[in-house]
Parts: sequence; C-alpha cells; structure tokens
Amino acid sequence: MFNFKRLCLLIFFLLLSFDVSLCLSSSLGKFKFCLDNNKIKNFTVFPYKEHDQSFANDYYKILNFSVQNLRFTEPNIPKPIAIVLPETLVQLQNSVACCREFSLEIRVRSGGHSYEGTSSVADDGTLFVIIDMMNLNHVWVHMETKTAWVEGGATLGETYYAISQASDEYGFSAGSCPTVGVGGHIGGGGFGLLSRKYGLAADNVVDALLVDADGRVLERATMGEDVFWAIRGGGGGLWGIVYAWKIQLLKVPQVVTSFIASRTGTKNHIAKLVNKWQHVAPNLEDEFYLSCFVGAGLPEAKIIGLSTTFKGFYLGPKSKAISILNQDFPELDVADEECREMSWIESVVFFSGLKDGASVSDLRNRYMQDKEYFKAKSDFVRSYVPLVGIETALDILEKEPKGFVILDPYGGMMHNISSESIAFPHRKGNIFTIQYLIYWKEADNDKSSDYIDWIRGFYSSMTPFVSYGPRAAYINYMDFDLGVMELISFDDDLVKARVWGEKYFLSNYDRLVRAKTLIDPDNVFTNQQGILPMSFASSKAQVLSS
Ligand SMILES: Cc1cc2nc3c(=O)[nH]c(=O)nc-3n(C[C@H](O)[C@H](O)[C@H](O)COP(=O)(O)OP(=O)(O)OC[C@H]3O[C@@H](n4cnc5c(N)ncnc54)[C@H](O)[C@@H]3O)c2cc1C
Repeated sequence: MFNFKRLCLLIFFLLLSFDVSLCLSSSLGKFKFCLDNNKIKNFTVFPYKEHDQSFANDYYKILNFSVQNLRFTEPNIPKPIAIVLPETLVQLQNSVACCREFSLEIRVRSGGHSYEGTSSVADDGTLFVIIDMMNLNHVWVHMETKTAWVEGGATLGETYYAISQASDEYGFSAGSCPTVGVGGHIGGGGFGLLSRKYGLAADNVVDALLVDADGRVLERATMGEDVFWAIRGGGGGLWGIVYAWKIQLLKVPQVVTSFIASRTGTKNHIAKLVNKWQHVAPNLEDEFYLSCFVGAGLPEAKIIGLSTTFKGFYLGPKSKAISILNQDFPELDVADEECREMSWIESVVFFSGLKDGASVSDLRNRYMQDKEYFKAKSDFVRSYVPLVGIETALDILEKEPKGFVILDPYGGMMHNISSESIAFPHRKGNIFTIQYLIYWKEADNDKSSDYIDWIRGFYSSMTPFVSYGPRAAYINYMDFDLGVMELISFDDDLVKARVWGEKYFLSNYDRLVRAKTLIDPDNVFTNQQGILPMSFASSKAQVLSS
C-alpha cells in the first residue's frame, strides 16, 4: 500500500505538469463510483483536466472555506483529490470505506483550525481525501441528564449556542474562538475560560462515537478504556473519526463579570505588570480566569508600542471581581466601568473576537472573517519567569508588532486533575502556558520567512525560562518545528515521533502508542506528526529488510 501511494504521488505531480492522468483519473473514477454506490452525493473532486475548470470554483470554495490559516491555501501546498462532506453517520462510515478501498489517505476536518493544516493537507506524498464534517454539526442537549451529544463537525460557537437555547444555568468549558471545531479541539484537550473551574473540554467528555479504520462505530464501552482515554487529549486525526462527543454540561451562575483591560507604559512598567500577573492569576480562586496578552501591536492598545491586555472573567458579580482584583492585583487598577456583568452566553460573545455588536446567534456562523497567515508555538512554565526573562521577551516583542504572546493561567481544577486521567498530561506544577503567535496579511507574505524566523528566534531565547526535560508543548498549538515524519526510514520516524510525542504528552506517550496499536494498527489515520502503532512499525521494518 505504501509503495502504491508513493507511486501515485510521483505520477500525481507529473500529471499536474503534463495534464496526463492515469493514476489520478483511475483512482478518482473508482472512488467516485464507490461514493455514488453508497449514495454519497455531497463531494467535489480536484479539477485536474481543463474541461473540469468549471468545477474548480466549487472545489476551491469548499477546500478553502475551512482552511483558517492562509499559509495552507498557497498554490504549492498539496491538494486533496476529493473533498467529501458526509451528511449522516452511515455516509461517514462509507466515506472511510471508499477511501480505504482505493488506498486514499484520509484527512478529517472539523473547524479547520489546525495550526499546521493537518486537516487539509497531506504532504507525505500520498493521494488524499478530506472528509469534511461540516454537515455533521448537530447538537442535542439533554437537560434531564445535563449532557449533550455534539456531532464531530460542530463548532464551539454552535455548541455554546445550542446549550444556551436549552438553559441559562449551564455552559461548557472550551476555547473562545467560535469557529474552532469540536473535532480537533476536544481531541487535543481544549482549554478555555472555565478550565480553572472545570478542567478542559476533554475532561468533561463522558462518551463518544468513533468511526474506526474499518468503518465500525464504537462507543466508550466497545472502543475500550485505553482508546477512550487516548481520544481525550491525544490529538485529533489519529484514532479514527469522532462522529460525536457526549459532553457534561457545567453549572454557571446567572451573572458573570467580564473585562478586557489594556495597559500601556514604559517597558519597565509592562514588565512589572506581567511579573505581578504570573504570581497572581494562577493562584486566584477557581472562579477567576485572568489571561495576559503582551505585544507591540495589540489591537486594544490602539498604539504601536509595547502594551499588555488582560482578559478577565469571573463566575460572579462585578463587586466581588473588583474587590478580589483590588486586593490581589492593585497594580492593574481595574476600573468599575471596565467591568461588565452579563450572562455566561453573553460572555462567550464578548470574548469571541466577533465584531462589536455581534449577537448570540452570530456564534453559529462557521465562516471566519479576516483570515490571515500565521505561525504559532507553545511553552509551559513551571517556575516563575525571572524579571530578566520577561525583559528578554519584551525586547523581542518590541521589535515585531505583528507578533505577540498569550499567557494563560493554570492552577485551580487544572492542578487537581491527575496527569494520567486523560491523554492531556500538563497538570499540577504548571503555572501558565505561553502561546507565541505572529500574524501577517497577504501584502506582507513575501516576508513570511522573516516572520517565521522571528518566532523561532523568540522561542529559542525563552529556553532558559520555560519547562525542560522535555520542553513541553500543547498539541492543540501544533508546531511542526518539533519534527515531522520523513517516511524514509521507519526507525528514524519512530525516534522522531517519540521526541514530539513526549513534548506533547510527557509520560502518557507510551500509553498512546499502545492505544494507537489497538485501534489503528495499519496507521490509517495519520498526519505529519502522528503516532506510529507498534504493529505498523514492525511490519514496515520487515518490508524494508526483505
Ligand atoms: C483562532 C483560534 C483560537 C483558538 N483558541 C483556542 C483556545 O482557546 N483553547 C484551545 O485549547 N485551543 C485553541 N485553539 C487551538 C484549537 O483548539 C486547535 O487548533 C484545534 O485542533 C482545532 O480544531 P478544529 O476542529 O477547528 O481543527 P481541524 O483542523 O479541523 O482539526 C484539527 C485536527 O483534528 C483532526 N480532527 C478534526 N475533526 C476530527 C474528528 N471529528 N475526529 C477526529 N479527528 C478530527 C484533524 O484531522 C486535525 O488533525 C485555537 C485556534 C485558533 C486558530
């Protein structure tokens, strides 16, 4: 199978140059026939011949709709030979079966926010198909059990919206961006404003329906506890396709308090604020979430120059929130008029990044406006960063207004859940996370390598101040700089996979390899930073040595 795919890839590139397509057209023809046979009508195929140009618009529209990082829309990025959009569970199972029958690699896509494009791109030299879950986006809320079944293509916005329609007493713990999909987000953990109170999205999953490589639908009991453990935080796209998550709804008060407070000043002043933040935010009561953005071009500052923005969320009234901050963080000097009382769902809109005036129903909009190019990296901090470390970061940030960091506080429930409870391991002992980001627009894309060098240099300069042995990273902030499969030597790939695997999963990595071997021994569900099953590694070693 491996050789056939590589051969197809070689031919695929020839085809693109010479417009002659034996391998592609024959694979594609048979694949379309298979979909047709299974009554799957909703798909589009690569416009590889001139007369197919009329399909090109449709193809690129569907392909790019959910590619959220413009780096992965570039012409040199490998394109799928087809995009299938199943509308029922049976169609999803049959889509997997058709891909497997014709040895087409699968990329499953939910919200399309993968930082390295793993839901839309396979650059390991294979013919591949995107199974796009956007039509499997229903959310059923069951107030009797305080749970909801959420289809794997729903976005966080659609999920929050559905919960808010059923109750104003319950919410869910997950990230802020409404167009992020539950497929990838919960699969990688899912940190958000309620995580210090209730843990990650994945901590609050009580069951799931997984379509495996043989097209079977497995629930918690039938997939087994190892696999159910792995799909919660072990990363999306590697175990099968999550058709639906069953999530536990979480109690929220009628009134919460939210604020976004920007502070400017000298470098010294910003350094002192950030320093105080790291000592305060992770130790606040669990009801409080206070994150810190730092950069020289933050939108809230409305100036170019160093500033810091604090995003605060409190599960309670404004008077209490302000009194806690005045006592623990008087340097922030938060003003009464900066804080607003609202319902939990209004706070979701408030922190969503949607434009001013957006309403609760706008959370359902799957299309992300104003897409840009970006690159991100992540760190975990286990010892307070000394002032010299904060100053190092500010010196670097000051020089590049397109870059910034987001510091997310841990503590609270994040510390109380054991590192082995689910596959996501970063718990007690972590003070906060750093997310390094740099965004740029099309007009600046000729300088993309400068921006990527900048973020790599920044990350390197922070080495003395962050976690080590290993330097940990968050799978949902996927970073190919930590290594990728080369597919030249399986032994090399095994060694490399352990390097990024232990950064993302620490000592949970070995259990993930075991779970992968159980659920996907042929490595059907993979990406450039996958987890290799033991069975696959040994069978490939045999092929190579024979
Ligand atoms: C603007 C923005 C804000 C973010 N905010 C947060 C945040 O607050 N907290 C946080 O923790 N993270 C956050 N993230 C990171 C986000 O959680 C990850 O990028 C996540 O993997 C995206 O999931 P997705 O479904 O949108 O992406 P996709 O690209 O569709 O999927 C990501 C991975 O999961 C796989 N996958 C997708 N659907 C399924 C499925 N149904 N079954 C199995 N595998 C699947 C894909 O193949 C891919 O490998 C943010 C990202 C962005 C871009």
